[in-house]
Amino acid sequence: MGRLLIIGCGGVAGVAIHKCCQNSKTFSEICIASRTKVKCDALKEKLENTTETKITTAQVDADKVEELIALIQSYQPDAVLNVALPYQDLTIMDACLACKVDYIDTANYEPEDTDDKQWREIYEKRCKEAGFTAYFDYSWQWAYQEKFKEAGITALLGSGFDPGVTSVFTAYALKHYFDEIETIDILDCNGGDHGYPFATNFNPEINLREVSANGSYWENGHWVETEPMEIKREYNFPQVGEKDMYLLHHEEIESLAKNVPGVKRIRFFMTFGQSYLTHMKCLENVGMLSTSPILFEGKEIVPIQFLKALLPDPASLGPRTVGKTNIGCIFTGKKDGKEKTIYIYNVCDHQECYKEVGSQAISYTTGVPAMIGAALVVDKVWDKDGVFNIEEFDPDPFMDMLNQYGLPWVVDENPQTVE
Ligand code: NDP
Repeated sequence: MGRLLIIGCGGVAGVAIHKCCQNSKTFSEICIASRTKVKCDALKEKLENTTETKITTAQVDADKVEELIALIQSYQPDAVLNVALPYQDLTIMDACLACKVDYIDTANYEPEDTDDKQWREIYEKRCKEAGFTAYFDYSWQWAYQEKFKEAGITALLGSGFDPGVTSVFTAYALKHYFDEIETIDILDCNGGDHGYPFATNFNPEINLREVSANGSYWENGHWVETEPMEIKREYNFPQVGEKDMYLLHHEEIESLAKNVPGVKRIRFFMTFGQSYLTHMKCLENVGMLSTSPILFEGKEIVPIQFLKALLPDPASLGPRTVGKTNIGCIFTGKKDGKEKTIYIYNVCDHQECYKEVGSQAISYTTGVPAMIGAALVVDKVWDKDGVFNIEEFDPDPFMDMLNQYGLPWVVDENPQTVE
């Protein structure tokens, strides 16, 4: 019996909301609040006769702390699930702090304008010290640790798939399969085809920033930086087949390096087809990925936001995407003095997701764990005061709920490894 306030009503939120409605025992009431209220109302209308969960909706500008506080005070939720954009992480955390309400999200904070002088100064100093330059990291949210602890509330960071499920796989491997994990390779494969020459599977701004940034991996206690897409490998993914994958910087490397004792190397690979890479390079070369505003016919526009308006809405890819995703982690390490390698992964079928909740698998694989993380916080199964990444909690109840809510996982004890 809990009340959840959900901020955002895009691709990921749509799935998380469907899943909350399948879990009415925990979520007896939800409020869907977003910038564009008609989207919230449309989803409410679609779902309200299919579930025992009572759904209400609200309009909110989540960039404004005061608006968020007013909404939280009037709705009185047990927790707030942030499935808006990473730009809103800090304002929503501030509002949760002011109202002493638990907070859950799926992506680390990023500023909307990476040319913002004040942000850049702090960020670049930190990057120099830490040794990487991708424009997203956990430092901004980890800085809330003491404040959340003092307020007696939980912030659960990164309850999506990666970060999220991949981090829980790591905690699970450490708990049940290893005394010590030496290396982690996180492999994110989308074998789906939507038929467009170029489209992104989740918010284009966030997605294109992530994949056009420098790559990096963690090795022997420090970051190693690469050019974007510099390291390429091939891997034969179960149920998907042979794919090219590229090493990227990814946020969970930062938290896993902190939370997995003695880990020697952590890498993250994502699959991309040649057409995607060629389009992206071209867009980057002509300046369309820039987040700096430019003057166009007397009006300021941000190139990447204009590009977003031109690209297919990720939420509309559902009906046309066929194929499967395979996302998981390969771990090497030691158990009882013996070398050991395991691969834990989930395979998800785009069309099956569409049949169930009207979305493609990328939104599905993020929305399901967002609901699960929120459920474990609302039910107080996960209850610690402070700011925590998801691998810092007991993985077992989360792993059980993955099986129950549509993301079953496999443990392969003799996998192909990555060179
Ligand atoms: P979408 O762009 O589809 O949806 C974002 C939603 O947030 C929209 O409903 C949008 O409103 C709303 N929103 C944006 N700004 C505001 C604001 N100022 N106030 C209120 N609402 C706002 O994004 P996705 O659903 O694809 O992604 C959601 C989150 O999930 C992102 O943070 C993304 O990084 C994360 N993600 C995490 C993954 C993981 O595995 N961990 C994988 C994929 C995504 P409007 O409809 O008006 O535009």
